[in-house]
Amino acid sequence: MSLQSGRIARVSVHGGHSGQFCCHAADDLASMVAAYADQGFAWVGLTEHMPPPDDRFLYPEERQAGLDAAALRHRFAAYMAEARRLQRRWASTLPIRVGFETEAYSGAFDLARRLIEDFHPDYIVGSVHHVANIPIDFSPAVYAEAVARCGGLQELYLAYFDLQLEMIETLEPQVIGHFDLVRIFDPDYPQRLASVPVVGRIARNLEKIRQLGAILDLNVAAWDKGASEPYPAAVIRRQARRLGIALVPGDDSHGVAMVGRHFDQAAALLEAEGFSTDWPVPGV
Ligand SMILES: [Zn+2]
Ligand SMILES: [Zn+2]
Repeated sequence: MSLQSGRIARVSVHGGHSGQFCCHAADDLASMVAAYADQGFAWVGLTEHMPPPDDRFLYPEERQAGLDAAALRHRFAAYMAEARRLQRRWASTLPIRVGFETEAYSGAFDLARRLIEDFHPDYIVGSVHHVANIPIDFSPAVYAEAVARCGGLQELYLAYFDLQLEMIETLEPQVIGHFDLVRIFDPDYPQRLASVPVVGRIARNLEKIRQLGAILDLNVAAWDKGASEPYPAAVIRRQARRLGIALVPGDDSHGVAMVGRHFDQAAALLEAEGFSTDWPVPGV
């Protein structure tokens, strides 16, 4: 194992999606954990997606794999068991936090609450990937459907941030995943993020996050697709900084090749912006 002795501890607050437990990821979870250890991570959070409450929210790749909501529920239980096994296995060298990532479509909050009761995760990442039950991060075409359903781009943003607040208040997640994912297929997002009603929603949600003491996921996945900055955008990071909200890098890894990518860039960005790189550990 090659332990890197960088100045800033390597961590990931959100990631560890594996092909073993997620149809749009690669590799098995044990290989991914070994990759984090090889890269000298100080700790890592495993936050596989939660299963859907019913078959309506199956992704095409899950249907193609012949899976339904019941099968995904079983797979999630297997994920929690394997993550706990790896947590014990690596306890002396790589502290692992075992969690999961939420959804915010119909029925997701009730199911997430049941999963928390049944599996006692160390923490959860509260994420919104759907607005009006339509996935916003699947493709530009499906994003356009969500825009149309909401009645416009600005309305999509407002609905997203309202749903995010509901998620935060209902589930009280320790980490907020990719805070402004809603801008994923909107090249003119700076304009949207500057509009008065959107600014108000963002300030409101950040205040709630501050009150909760939750962490923002500095999600590097945006850089994979050539975006100029990670989630959340600079204008939101500045507000979080003023409010004293912690930002912690999350690699949102979906396979061994994605483990730890962009970490140095993320850490350098946060340090330059005045955030503490003495990263808080979620759920501690
Ligand atoms: Zn995923
Ligand atoms: Zn996500």
